[in-house]
Amino acid sequence: MSTIQRPYGTFDILPEEVGTWQYIESVVRDTAKRYGFGEIRFPTFEATELFSRGVGDTSDIVQKEMYTFNDRDKRTLTLRPEGTACVVRSIIENGLVFGAMPLKLFYIANFFRHEKAQKGRSREFWQFGCEIFGSSGAEADATAILLAKAVFDKLGIKGVALHLNSIGCPECRPAYREKLVAYLNENIASLCPTCVERMKTNPLRVLDCKNESCRAVSERAPKSAEHLCGECERHFSALRGLLDDNGADYIVDTSIVRGLDYYTRTVFEFIDPTIGAQSTICGGGRYSGLVSELGGPETDAVGFGMGITRLIAALENSGVQVPKNAVPDIYIAPLGEKAKIKAFSLAQKLRGLGVYAETDLCGRSLKAQMKYADKIGAKHNLVIGDNELETGQSSLKSMSGGGTVLVGLDADEVLRAVKE
Ligand code: ATP
Ligand code: MG
Repeated sequence: MSTIQRPYGTFDILPEEVGTWQYIESVVRDTAKRYGFGEIRFPTFEATELFSRGVGDTSDIVQKEMYTFNDRDKRTLTLRPEGTACVVRSIIENGLVFGAMPLKLFYIANFFRHEKAQKGRSREFWQFGCEIFGSSGAEADATAILLAKAVFDKLGIKGVALHLNSIGCPECRPAYREKLVAYLNENIASLCPTCVERMKTNPLRVLDCKNESCRAVSERAPKSAEHLCGECERHFSALRGLLDDNGADYIVDTSIVRGLDYYTRTVFEFIDPTIGAQSTICGGGRYSGLVSELGGPETDAVGFGMGITRLIAALENSGVQVPKNAVPDIYIAPLGEKAKIKAFSLAQKLRGLGVYAETDLCGRSLKAQMKYADKIGAKHNLVIGDNELETGQSSLKSMSGGGTVLVGLDADEVLRAVKE
């Protein structure tokens, strides 16, 4: 019979790799906690309308990338392509948006987008994300950025750079947008077909097109950061001051615009050019229009999403050694049927006492068992045969050549010996 393969663009995380994931997750949870963020979990699928309204009809995500389906009740559902809309839906539905502010939340979740799979881009992927609600001050933007930086620092990632920009607000953006569209119109012959389309729907998006000739046009385009109103200018300068004061280097990069309509003022990306073409590990910004767009009260918000696979690539490129998977404290090797019963219950008791204990599950010969114990990296072995059953004692051997000690076949005694 033919075998079944995983769907295109998905991947398995095998036991030998899962240690890296768990390590990253623990660093993320630890760091987010120190910054006062509470963890939130939300459904894997949501009403499709949440994303068409919350992410924006003109975005690549909604236009091309969603996994949308009708369930058996004929509801239109979508596998979550991102987390912000889900968090906003949840805090409105559960009333958190009316509670104490600021509200600081984070998530670690998998997301789904129908896109071409390549290095750093898959159809199911994981993100660490955070959102801060209820603060219009630059301190909130700085907190989100410094949290992301703290995760990179704690993990020992070196090649990552913070790119920062401000795209203004509903006050100043329309005039800037008009100026940009006029400039793009003058250069329309050099734009790719997608950008010609974007010019009508979301002209700022032209500025982050990766196409060579679009980039040349973008470089000479009017810059949003040079067309800010007084309030936006003050906000941007306060944010830069906070980052300067707190040891976060950044590059003001006018090509950073972010794809989504609801962004206001701050937008930022953490980029590591050493990980390949998909070099943006983390993207975020301020999105003060979203909560009201989704039916909640006017609420300030700022946050980011950080891709875990790209984070792992950066970690590997920085030469960081992640903690290895645990190896067994003891392998108990039985010889014969009676010994097998004794070894099984001894292993069971030791596990109850917090010892990582292994024993034979495959009826192997002693030689084969020792080979296996060596392969899984067991620190000690304990052979139990008829003799040992009779005397109630056996030699606990160190597998790394540290000698042997005689122990009683009793969980407490073995525990003391393996922990020494
Ligand atoms: P890109 O320009 O790479 O498509 P994006 O703007 O679509 O990114 P966001 O929606 O801002 O990305 O997601 C935040 C982060 O999540 C990205 O910076 C990236 O690290 C990660 N990410 C996004 N899409 C994918 C994907 N398909 N596979 C792996 N990681 C992804
Ligand atoms: Mg994308």
